Amino acid sequence: MDHPASKPRLSLHWQILIGLSIGAIAGWIARQVWPAVAGKMDPTLEWLTKNVAETFGQVFLRLIFMVVVPLVFSALTLGVAGIGDVRRLGKLGVRTLVMTLLLSSASVAIGLGMANFVQPGARLPKEKRIELRAKYADQSQDTVKKAASAKTPRDSLLDIIPRNPLQEMVGALDGSSPGGGMLAVMFFALVCGVAISISPERTAPLVAVLEGIYDIAMVVIGWAMKLAPIGVAGLMFSLTATLGVDILRTLIWYVGAVLAALALHMFGVYSLVVWLVAKLSPRQFFSRISEVLLTAFATSSSNATLPTSLRVAEEKLGVKREVANFVLTVGSTANQNGTALYEGITVLFLAQVFDVELTFAQQVQVVLMSVLAGVGTAGVPGGSLPLVVLVLKSVGVPEQGIGIILGVDRLLDMCRTTLNVTGDLAVAVCVDRGEKSLETEPPCPT
Ligand code: ASP
Repeated sequence: MDHPASKPRLSLHWQILIGLSIGAIAGWIARQVWPAVAGKMDPTLEWLTKNVAETFGQVFLRLIFMVVVPLVFSALTLGVAGIGDVRRLGKLGVRTLVMTLLLSSASVAIGLGMANFVQPGARLPKEKRIELRAKYADQSQDTVKKAASAKTPRDSLLDIIPRNPLQEMVGALDGSSPGGGMLAVMFFALVCGVAISISPERTAPLVAVLEGIYDIAMVVIGWAMKLAPIGVAGLMFSLTATLGVDILRTLIWYVGAVLAALALHMFGVYSLVVWLVAKLSPRQFFSRISEVLLTAFATSSSNATLPTSLRVAEEKLGVKREVANFVLTVGSTANQNGTALYEGITVLFLAQVFDVELTFAQQVQVVLMSVLAGVGTAGVPGGSLPLVVLVLKSVGVPEQGIGIILGVDRLLDMCRTTLNVTGDLAVAVCVDRGEKSLETEPPCPT
C-alpha cells in the first residue's frame, strides 16, 4: 500500500523483483561455494536451503493458504450473486453471464493451447526437472497419487457436486477431500451465489458477512504480500541452489508464452467478437478504448480502472448507462479473461517444470478452476495469486513453484489486467448492441 505522506519507498513489485534477484544470485553463489558431488547436493547447502531459505518461503505461502478457502468461497459467491441477478436483469444478466463464461473458456483454452505448444517448462533439462520433482516429492506425492488415482470421467464430473461441502473445504488444500475438493467448493459457492440472487432481501445479512470475510482475507493477503520479497528470495535461493541458472532461462520462455497467448486473445478473439456481434470495426474499438487500456496497464487493477471504463464506454463506445453500469461493474470482478488465461498457462508451465504429468481429467479440472477463478478473483494487483497457488495444489504441483513466477508477475499482471478490462468493454458493447437491436424491433402487439 502506498503512503503518500511517508518517505518514498520502493513499490512492492520492485521489492519482489529485487528479492527474486538476490535469492537467485545468492543461490547460484552458494552452488559455486558448495558444489554438488556426483549429482548430490552438498549437505551444508542442503541444510541451509531446507532450514533457512525454504522456511521463509513457507511462512509466506502459509499466510496465503490460511485464507484461501474463505477467500474463494466469499469472492465467488459474491461475484455470482452480482452477475447471477438474472431474474431482475432479465436478458442483460443472461447475456452477460453467457458471454463471460464463453470468453473465459476461450481464453483458458488459448492459454493451455499455448502452454502445450511452446512447452515453456519442458525447456528445463529433463534431469533438472527430475531433480526438482524428487526434491519436493514428499510434499506432492500424496496429492499427485490421489489426484491421478483413476477416476472415471463420470465420477470426476459428479464429484464437482459436493455431497458435503464442509468436508470438501476441510480437505481442499491437502487433497484429502472425498469428492472434487476445491472444484466442489467452487461449485457450492456458485450455487449459493445464484440462490442469494433469487432472494436478495432476505439474504442481505449473509451477503454482509461474506463481504466481511472477503475483506479480512484481502487484508491478510496484503500482509502476506509484504513478506513476499523475503519469501520469494527464499524460494528462489532454494531453486537456483538446486538447479543453477537454467530455471531463469526457462522463465523467459514462460513470459513469452503468456504474452503471446494474451495478444492472441486480445487481437484475435475480441476483434472477432466485437466485429461479429457488435458490428464494430476492431480498429475503432481498440482506438476508442485506448485510454482504458493504458489505465489498466499502469494500475494492474480492474477495479481501479472501472471509473475510466465507465466513462469511455458511455462517451466513446455509446453504451447505454445502465448497461455499462451493470456489465462493467460486475465484470471488473467477475469477467477476467486475462486472469483465467494466465492461471491456466501458469499451472501447466509449473507442472512441466516439476515434471508432473497432468491427466486429461486434471487438465479439464485446470480449465474449470481457472474459469471459476477468473470469476472469483479480486480486481486488484496480484489478485489472482492466491488462486494460482490453490489450483497448483489441487492438481499436485508443488506450490513452491509460485516463487519462480512471482518475480515476473508485475509485468504479466499489467498485461493480463489490460485484457481483463478489454473483455469487460467487449462484453458491454456486445450486450448493448443486442439490447438496442431488441429495442428497434417492432413492438409486440399487447
Ligand atoms: N490484477 C488483475 C485485475 O485487477 C487481477 C489478477 O489477475 O491478479 O484485473
